[in-house]
Amino acid sequence: GATIELENLTKRYPGSSAPAVDNVNMEIKAGEIVIFVGPSGCGKSTTLKMINRLIEPTGGRIRIGGEDVTDIDPVKLRRKVGYAIQSAGLFPHMTVAQNIGLVPRMIGWSSSRIRARVEELLDLVGLEPGEFRGRYPRQLSGGQQQRVGVARALAADPPVLLMDEPFGAVDPITRDHLQDELIRLQHELHKTIVFVTHDFDEAIKLGDRIAVLREHSHIAQFDTPEAILTN
Ligand code: ADP
Ligand code: ADP
Repeated sequence: GATIELENLTKRYPGSSAPAVDNVNMEIKAGEIVIFVGPSGCGKSTTLKMINRLIEPTGGRIRIGGEDVTDIDPVKLRRKVGYAIQSAGLFPHMTVAQNIGLVPRMIGWSSSRIRARVEELLDLVGLEPGEFRGRYPRQLSGGQQQRVGVARALAADPPVLLMDEPFGAVDPITRDHLQDELIRLQHELHKTIVFVTHDFDEAIKLGDRIAVLREHSHIAQFDTPEAILTN
């Protein structure tokens, strides 16, 4: 894992009266799972998208592993950051293997290295490679799509994983299973994970620390599940 530091991080969307994210300061330790919980519209996704450089901050800095990445080339950032979202966001016209291989291809891995990595990742997320590598997303269940989404986020072995309600669209039993898998993965791979959820039970189960956010991503509490439960 790598540390993530947010310093006065701010996003004001053009034309909106208030900033979506206002002056957020936060230090996330290497290898920890931090959960963002908070009401819809409080800026959780905006914060993750800024860390992933899908949108530009209007103020402040982002450091990963001590390196200032606020203005880094997004393709370079793909080596450091993996991103998984609700409903997986797979490209429908691409096979499972092509979806997983997207970022490795973007950063210039050879085809044989990508092929081997896809096999390894499908095993890791519990999908039999021979059966699944050639399928299209529409030929997968919701839970299987989420697994592929997680595999894609892990593809280039980034030290940081950003997960925006990654299990939000699956049934409770599959979600429980995917949560257990994530915990197991985390024990093996020691990623630094920022995980957004609406589900407080999920936050308690997965989090090393929980950031309880209010409007504009103001941090109301940032502490261990035990401490938050006793407050
Ligand atoms: P959350 O993930 O916590 O639900 P978001 O980060 O999606 O919150 O949104 C934070 C705020 O920014 C909301 O008020 C939302 O309406 C606004 N917002 C999000 N995306 C855009 C956008 N592309 N343009 C303008 N406003 C946006
Ligand atoms: P586009 O702007 O064409 O969507 P992006 O580079 O933003 O291109 O994203 C392409 C796809 O890769 C999206 O489906 C997105 O969910 C996924 N993606 C974006 N960032 C990452 C990342 N850091 N790791 C893995 N997948 C990512």
